[in-house]
Parts: sequence; C-alpha cells; structure tokens
Amino acid sequence: MGYRLPAIEEVEHAISAVLRREMKLPSESRFLSLVRRELKRKDKDYTISHERLRRVALRSGLCKVTIHTRVVPSRRPMARCPVCNTRITPVKNETIFGGTVTLGYECPFCGYWTGMKRRVPQRYVFSSLVGGKRDVPAVRFMDLPDNAD
Ligand SMILES: [Zn+2]
Repeated sequence: MGYRLPAIEEVEHAISAVLRREMKLPSESRFLSLVRRELKRKDKDYTISHERLRRVALRSGLCKVTIHTRVVPSRRPMARCPVCNTRITPVKNETIFGGTVTLGYECPFCGYWTGMKRRVPQRYVFSSLVGGKRDVPAVRFMDLPDNAD
C-alpha cells in the first residue's frame, strides 16, 4: 500500500470537519487519528505526520491550539522550534564587556519562546474557534507547575 500527501486545503478541510463534530480535542494523537480518518475518506492512501498537522493547524486560523509546557533545566543550544520545527531565533543581550549572551529563544512562526530554563511542550489541545472569542490568540502556552505529573 502506498501513501500520498494531501494538499494544504484538503488538510484544512479535514481539520474543519473534525472540529465541527468535536469542539475540543484533548490530545494531539486523538486529533491526528481523526484528521487521518477524515483524509482517508477522500483517498485511502492519504496520510499526515504529527508535525505537518501541527504546522497546518497553527497556520490555518481554524482552531485554537493550547500548548502545555514544562520547564526543565537545559543549557544546550537550540536550533529548531520544538513545536513547529522552524529554525529558532536566539534572543541575545549585550554584555558590558562588548560580547553577547543568549537569554533564550523565540520562534518566528508559532510564537514559542523559552528562557535558558527550557520550556518543553508536553501536551497539545486543539479546540474549535466557533463560538469562541475572536480576539484571543490562536496559540496559547500554559506552563505546568514543576512538580505536576
Ligand atoms: Zn515554532
């Protein structure tokens, strides 16, 4: 069995169809399986990865994405956004000695940001914008407390 990649419009159509039936998807894996099922109704060889679905959903304006993050100690440099895989931009400050120090990173695509204590995405909640407030940002980050499970 082969596989084919659906066009962005087809993915957006599937996202809308899923969100019309379920206003809120509490996990990314559930959202992914429902979107895949919707796509396969159009073409049984269609599939989509976690990462592509996330990118299309973030860009579509069709849904609100709430990203729960946890802060973990890490000082390793970051190259790509953990949410959308876009090349990430370091936030730098000048030191009094004329050098620069990295304070954190921010993503120009999805709005993810972190300080040197790393915010790691733990869970994605996708919800319908229908009936919701239009003035809220489509992407929201929520930090979980350190000791939560
Ligand atoms: Zn990003």
